[in-house]
Amino acid sequence: LLKTPNQEHILVIGAGLCGSLLALRMAQRGYKVTLMEKRPDLRKEVVDSGRSINLAFSDRGMKGLRLAGLEDKVLPLCIPMHGRMIHNTEGEQFMSPYSGRHEYINSISREDLNIMLLDECELMPQITMRFNQKCTGVNLETAEATFEDYKTGETTTYQTDIVMGADGVGSALRKSMLDHRKFLFSYGQDFLTHGYKELSFPPKADGGFLVEKHALHIWPRGKDMMIALPNLDGSFTVTLFLSWDEGKDSFESLNTDEAVVDYFKREYPDALALMPDLLEEFHANPTSPLGTIKCSPWHAYGKVLLLGDAAHGIVPFYGQGMNSAFEDIYVLDQYLDQHAGDWKAVFKAYQEERKEDTDAIADLAVDNFHEMKAHTARPIFQEKRKLEIAFEEAFPTEYFSKYSLVTFREDLRYSEAMRRGRVQDKAILNLIYDGKFTTDMSLRDKLDLMKQETRKMLHDE
Ligand code: FAD
Repeated sequence: LLKTPNQEHILVIGAGLCGSLLALRMAQRGYKVTLMEKRPDLRKEVVDSGRSINLAFSDRGMKGLRLAGLEDKVLPLCIPMHGRMIHNTEGEQFMSPYSGRHEYINSISREDLNIMLLDECELMPQITMRFNQKCTGVNLETAEATFEDYKTGETTTYQTDIVMGADGVGSALRKSMLDHRKFLFSYGQDFLTHGYKELSFPPKADGGFLVEKHALHIWPRGKDMMIALPNLDGSFTVTLFLSWDEGKDSFESLNTDEAVVDYFKREYPDALALMPDLLEEFHANPTSPLGTIKCSPWHAYGKVLLLGDAAHGIVPFYGQGMNSAFEDIYVLDQYLDQHAGDWKAVFKAYQEERKEDTDAIADLAVDNFHEMKAHTARPIFQEKRKLEIAFEEAFPTEYFSKYSLVTFREDLRYSEAMRRGRVQDKAILNLIYDGKFTTDMSLRDKLDLMKQETRKMLHDE
């Protein structure tokens, strides 16, 4: 562990996934840290996180956890998922691997991961954790943050050296920056036409899994989509992505038991058979929005900094929100080494590098929304995936699909993964569409043709 004699005091707002890892890392660097969370301590009380129950955890997220020495602690919480198990309306399934190099992503419980991180924070004497403390505003110039105690209603203002906002999409620090009006603060929020609702498959009676454990299940239906990720207890968390109020089927139109069951019978008959509590869950669980948040700057006066969803909320279709939040901490940490003692320089350099990358993953995540709900079911897309997997298997150091570049190449910036991946996708789809991959060609010839086409396109860019 790094321990420098840093006397400065950092206040972190939000003890979710990003805030708890951030607090831990800053304490490992020797800072005194206060970690403030509006919810109760989820290790002691049942807390509704308000976000998804489980998440896809992959290499970039691991990079952040590894930095804090937590790789061994997180592995027991993970269920490897080797590919997408696609379910059609006839109830047939086929597996589309994530990579030809046997790389995989993991399903992880948000609560278990957050508890592990809070337990690690608890072990650090330099960290003070306070729960039931809702931040109501931050003075950006003086680094004073005000909190209201949920239980007593009492208000307290803390004077610190640095305030870091890891308080999620509804960030109080970001709101203070928006309201400040002494510098230009750009802010944009873009909602999808679809919302989501969480449902579930129970475990088998013997604790086993009702469908393949090591896969991310997808029911792509063109306009809508359902996915399911495994949990350690044998259950699956199922998420339905459906239009709010447009088209034939929407959360608005599914307003009776009959309408819900009819819709599931028509679109997800195999899943319906595994959902004994569908109606109960459908009515009890909230329907939540999905949006992208972009803002700039992420910092002010060398005193405050936004990280994680507070700085860049993205839609969940690349499974990268938490992963990018953990990667944020990794990138910030590099700049703390470079500009030690000069917070303004650290924050500036950090944003200069990182903003381009989080903008890229935000855009890729929206693209993937369309890819997952519609394209995964199309023959041309399936042919492309088969070819990509064959390339990755035969030429593991030469070919990386866009998905692999984004998900498994933790050494590559998101912006570069997006640039290369998009051009490659276009090239491969054009070649398939134009019938350029002929049956007499070897896999090597096909890859060379693909590379040639990609180079041409990059050159034309
Ligand atoms: P949050 O997890 O939102 O944590 C913020 C914390 O701050 C919370 O504990 C909150 O209580 C606290 N807080 C908020 N306001 C205040 C305040 N005023 N004062 C004090 N405390 C406050 N990401 C992935 O990587 N993979 C996935 O598969 C994935 N799936 C997702 C599925 C869905 C349906 C959704 C909605 C998101 C998904 N994400 C996924 C994204 C992921 O959930 C977020 O990117 C991640 O939670 C961001 O962490 P965070 O700590 O920045 O924010």
